[in-house]
Amino acid sequence: MSFDAVIAEIRSKLGAEAVLTADAELLVYECDAVTMHRHTPMAVVLPNSTEEVAVAVRACHEQGVPYVPRGAGTGLSGGAVPVEDALLIETSRMRRVLEIDFENRFAIVEAGIVNVDVSKACASGGLHYAPDPSSQTVCTVGGNVAENSGGPHCLKYGATTNHILAVRVVMPDGEVVDLGRADQWTTGYDLRGAFVGSEGTLGIATEITVRLVPTPPAIRTLLFPFPELDASCEAVGAIIRSGIVPAALEILDRNTIEAVEASPTFRAGYPTDAAAVLLVELDGLEAGIEDQVDSVTTICRQHGALEVHRAQTAQERAALWRGRKGAFGAMGRLAPDLFVQDVVVPRTRLPEIIREVVEIGARHGLHVSNVFHAGDGNLHPNITYDRRDADQVERVRRAGKEIIVRCVAVGGTLSGEHGIGLDKAEYMTLVFTEDDLESMAKLREVFNPRALCNPGKILPSGGGCFDRQASRLATEDAQ
Ligand SMILES: Cc1cc2nc3c(=O)[nH]c(=O)nc-3n(C[C@H](O)[C@H](O)[C@H](O)COP(=O)(O)OP(=O)(O)OC[C@H]3O[C@@H](n4cnc5c(N)ncnc54)[C@H](O)[C@@H]3O)c2cc1C
Repeated sequence: MSFDAVIAEIRSKLGAEAVLTADAELLVYECDAVTMHRHTPMAVVLPNSTEEVAVAVRACHEQGVPYVPRGAGTGLSGGAVPVEDALLIETSRMRRVLEIDFENRFAIVEAGIVNVDVSKACASGGLHYAPDPSSQTVCTVGGNVAENSGGPHCLKYGATTNHILAVRVVMPDGEVVDLGRADQWTTGYDLRGAFVGSEGTLGIATEITVRLVPTPPAIRTLLFPFPELDASCEAVGAIIRSGIVPAALEILDRNTIEAVEASPTFRAGYPTDAAAVLLVELDGLEAGIEDQVDSVTTICRQHGALEVHRAQTAQERAALWRGRKGAFGAMGRLAPDLFVQDVVVPRTRLPEIIREVVEIGARHGLHVSNVFHAGDGNLHPNITYDRRDADQVERVRRAGKEIIVRCVAVGGTLSGEHGIGLDKAEYMTLVFTEDDLESMAKLREVFNPRALCNPGKILPSGGGCFDRQASRLATEDAQ
């Protein structure tokens, strides 16, 4: 394996400025948004096109050098961080909109485009790209595809996989393939489906065909303060039971409200005396939407909501969302580091699990804030801490694990949207058998037989599945 040969080959084909190797330049790539996991890459490659990605991948393939795809580095499971000496292939120079087909409602974009720029590009045609992670002003569509990202509006519209029609992929041997079709009528195995959510372990997405949906003519945004966190969770269950499908149902607890309201950047006007606020957005046709507002208001009042704030203008709606979407950012004022847990439970178990999360945080002496996609049962306990304090780091890890174990015990799972990456690979055995993991390893081997593309992610390293691949590779090397 020769990194120097790979770098020389890429520089000769893509130009010297396409590869970063200086220590100061590499430092910013040492982690993603999980600052706990760090590993500085050997070099960063900045390709401009599918062909340039293929040049870099082929060079790695020929020399047996591992590499990691990277978008904006906002991931919350350590997926874009190398676990060993590796190259990063970063898509930030690939952010063009290649085509918008308003009639057939799709757009073809490069993988490095920032999520929100897709909706901006097609707004004139009354369409938008629905998946809206709270990081949408920064994160890339390529990263969203890799993580099968969610977002507040995915309650009604579905997560990223429901909006990806086709993906152009540079395979780990450098071949370029197209998975899926813009008209969605794929026959045979759904390889597009296998690729979405594969966390950069099956290849590098370079061009993505996204579904566009009509921007709803009527939108109502409501905020309900509650005196108890439990009651806000119960109101969420009752709203869904009533048959209404809001576009979004988001809860912020008191610690989150305090962090948001203390932030000059993200302040939203949330009441600081509430134990929780429930942010509800309803959308659709003008006809009938006021009936839904009345029903939701009645349900929330029955569950103890203290009052209702209704956004009267686009600015007021933006302010209510600013607090929710900026909540993780607002926590940056509380401590140097933030650990965002991402777990899912059946919606009916939300009240008890939230109580347990608060208890686990208190038992470990940690500051935990909860802000979550309540309609999906997708929790985000946020633990603020200082990674320079080894004891605190250990307590954060233990609390994170206890939260996962409890969520799995009530029928939940490891991640709703942030993926497994590096951070949760060791927990895969909590929800999957050895056979399940073996099947996943086999799928990965079909795409990525030499495990050069983002090694060490998703599958637990101690499991038989990994050992099998490692021993096969060792045998091949010996021959
Ligand atoms: C403040 C904040 C709020 C967030 N809110 C949400 C939210 O509401 N919902 C949500 O789901 N997530 C959220 N996230 C997590 C994160 O933004 C998403 O996971 C996002 O999709 C990552 O995109 P990225 O471009 O930053 O990818 P990166 O972090 O660079 O990479 C993430 C993974 O994707 C792989 N990858 C990146 N690009 C490609 C590519 N072109 N081809 C193949 N693999 C690739 C990487 O190898 C890595 O495994 C949030 C993060 C932050 C910091």
